[in-house]
Amino acid sequence: MSTLFLAHPEPDGTLAKSALEALSATIQLAASLETPFCVGLVGENPGPAANSIAGCGAARILTVSGAQFSQARYATDAAAAEALCRATAATLVTTPATSRWNRVLPGVAHRLGGHADSHVTGLTVAAGQPSISRWFYRQRMEAVFTRSTRPWLLALEGGIAPVAAVSNRQAQVTAPIENITLTLPATRTQVTGFEAPASDQQTIRPDADLLFVTGAGWTKKQADGKVKAAEAGALILDFLRLSRSSLGSTKSLVDLGGEGQSVLPFLSHLNQIGQTGSTPRHAKGLATCCHGEEPHTVGWRFIGERRAISMDANCGWARGKADILYVADAFAVMAEVNALLAT
Ligand SMILES: Cc1cc2nc3c(=O)[nH]c(=O)nc-3n(C[C@H](O)[C@H](O)[C@H](O)COP(=O)(O)OP(=O)(O)OC[C@H]3O[C@@H](n4cnc5c(N)ncnc54)[C@H](O)[C@@H]3O)c2cc1C
Repeated sequence: MSTLFLAHPEPDGTLAKSALEALSATIQLAASLETPFCVGLVGENPGPAANSIAGCGAARILTVSGAQFSQARYATDAAAAEALCRATAATLVTTPATSRWNRVLPGVAHRLGGHADSHVTGLTVAAGQPSISRWFYRQRMEAVFTRSTRPWLLALEGGIAPVAAVSNRQAQVTAPIENITLTLPATRTQVTGFEAPASDQQTIRPDADLLFVTGAGWTKKQADGKVKAAEAGALILDFLRLSRSSLGSTKSLVDLGGEGQSVLPFLSHLNQIGQTGSTPRHAKGLATCCHGEEPHTVGWRFIGERRAISMDANCGWARGKADILYVADAFAVMAEVNALLAT
């Protein structure tokens, strides 16, 4: 059994946190299997990234380099991954679950006659056989399973292993870096650039310590009989800017737009947390103007510490869903919190 860890450097030439986490999971896997592992890096100039992990304990470090590999493109990424798998005769292949690898892994597995699994959240070894953990049915059921097909390509989710402490391994013998030259197929896709929203427009931040959830109450009539959606939007955006938290929402609130009611324009279904939304993993969560119904709170199963602000002392949060419920007007509380954060 031989294992290959595949990664690509970020535009600044470094390896992302998710890549270093997947590397440490691979190191642990190879140690449990008592087999060597190799590293394969794909990018325009993966040399510095390869050097940065040269002491990770890999038996071989291989690179595929060149301008064609600077950006994600199916044809070139799949060709590079296939060549690295063949060059190392890998039976197990691990990658961080970046959009770049998630896109090509099934195709590479097909070319190699193997099998790919995505969203892997755990790797274990029993009696010399590797198994993976993976969630199904919107993270309601977790399965631990193995496959006999090889090569077995695994896209590892972020946060399932600590960042590889490669700096502590500098004293070990470092692996030489081998560059593989490819004859590429003709490519039709030209990558002309990369567009990302400004960081303050991006409200979903998986790395944030806090998940801030907005509920439909923000756009409902308040005690004075008025709807204050604009004020709500300003309070929420101020809080996100000051706290750098990640923005989640209830289904009711993101659905309101379709019903022609007052909406918060920066919310989309991507923000929805719950049974039919996402199940993020943040250390803390704060729900505001939200009732805390089961289809929503089921999405909080991985949130460590839960607090909620609701006018309703009898809401779902009060019935065992939150650690602390503040029965209060979220408009007043968040205005005060923002003022404190600003100072
Ligand atoms: C099959 C199915 C799947 C579903 N999937 C999801 C899902 O994935 N995610 C999800 O979120 N929901 C889901 N739902 C819907 C869910 O059951 C609830 O209807 C929804 O979560 C309620 O949203 P809410 O709490 O924002 O709104 P509401 O129930 O309207 O609650 C609003 C709350 O705001 C409070 N409030 C109002 N003004 C203030 C104020 N000034 N200060 C403080 N509090 C205030 C009110 O007291 C109230 O408790 C699903 C439902 C079904 C049937």
